[in-house]
Amino acid sequence: MKRRILKINKLLAERFGIPERQFPRPSPLSILIGTILSQNTNDTNSFKAYSSLRKKFPHWNHVAEARLSEIEKEIKSAGLWKQKAKAIKAVLKFFSEKDPSLNLDYLKDKDSDAILDELTQFKGVGVKTAACVLLFSLDRNVCPVDTHVFRTLNRIGPVDSANPEKTFYEIKDKIPDGIAHQFHTNLIRLGREICKSQKPSCSICPLKKICKFDNKNFEESKSITSKEFMLLDNIFEV
Ligand code: SF4
Repeated sequence: MKRRILKINKLLAERFGIPERQFPRPSPLSILIGTILSQNTNDTNSFKAYSSLRKKFPHWNHVAEARLSEIEKEIKSAGLWKQKAKAIKAVLKFFSEKDPSLNLDYLKDKDSDAILDELTQFKGVGVKTAACVLLFSLDRNVCPVDTHVFRTLNRIGPVDSANPEKTFYEIKDKIPDGIAHQFHTNLIRLGREICKSQKPSCSICPLKKICKFDNKNFEESKSITSKEFMLLDNIFEV
């Protein structure tokens, strides 16, 4: 599977380029909370909520001490604000007891599986969210699997799995060193711009020669070159 992933990655990079990364990386907590905010909404709305929360409460300790209603007010643009505010409070309560500084440096010494176990114990934090912390903050070579990554990888054919979590574990240890961020980000672009759920635009797809999807659509399609905003590459610290 590693060779196939390398091939897919190469073709995607030729089309979309190699996405830029932030340096220094954001803190684990910032990525975790950014990802909680991004559930069931788009990156623009979740970024608005993240920005508003950080402006109102510059340090995560301030959010930990805030009332739920104060957090809800700042994150409304992300939708499901009651549920997300509760999840954020629960995460902050747990980590402020473990590490009052809330920088979570102790996670850096743990292996990826232990971090996945620790983070997924919270209601509202699934494998995808925990994997985003691994990739975007802790620089681990893992590929979080959202709806786009799940759909595209199962169509292209390095995997054949029933849900995103299974796809994540199928590819987890098969990603060649150093490519997880570009592989993940470019698969999301592929899914958003070309390999859409209802009607993929196979005629303009860089993977059409190697893709194993049975229901390809070769109707003429317009090439889309817009680069959509990616939340987790824009998470900032205050
Ligand atoms: S060839 Fe078609 S189905 Fe396959 S990845 Fe490209 S757009 Fe998706």
